[in-house]
Amino acid sequence: MLNKNGVPSLEEIKSRFPSEEFLNKPKAITECYENIPCNPCSTSCPFDAIYIGEDINTPPVVDFEKCTGCGVCVYNCPGLAIFTVQKKEDCLVFKIPYELVPYPEKGEIVNAINRNGDIIGECEIEKVSITNRQDRTALLQVKVAQELLYEFITVRRKL
Ligand code: SF4
Ligand code: SF4
Repeated sequence: MLNKNGVPSLEEIKSRFPSEEFLNKPKAITECYENIPCNPCSTSCPFDAIYIGEDINTPPVVDFEKCTGCGVCVYNCPGLAIFTVQKKEDCLVFKIPYELVPYPEKGEIVNAINRNGDIIGECEIEKVSITNRQDRTALLQVKVAQELLYEFITVRRKL
């Protein structure tokens, strides 16, 4: 539970996701549960798809109708608390923030990690994006097994 060990419950995780029909296209998921004074996700979104409102302490809310899954908020969040996810026919495609160097490489098979830090399987790095405007936060596009929708959160290299 979030208020005991910092790990959100399945119910809390699901509360951040849209209904599954939205996930045919990539959508941003904000795992930002606390009332903290922060808003770069909202101010950086080119599509005005993240709402915080007048009180900067309010947790962000994504408008899934507006979100294109572009990933700009993912690398602008200082808390690494946002990812995007899309459901494909045979897999999930996540875009996650990643700051450990050396970055993984395209095609690399890495461990899939859950919110407790446990290994829950393997996944494949499909793309690694890093540009100057990302300030060293890479965006990893990762192919993940469908059953890990609410479990997968990051990757750990096998090296
Ligand atoms: S993924 Fe792009 S469109 Fe969606 S909320 Fe983030 S910045 Fe906005
Ligand atoms: S930028 Fe990240 S930490 Fe800050 S409010 Fe948005 S989701 Fe939360």
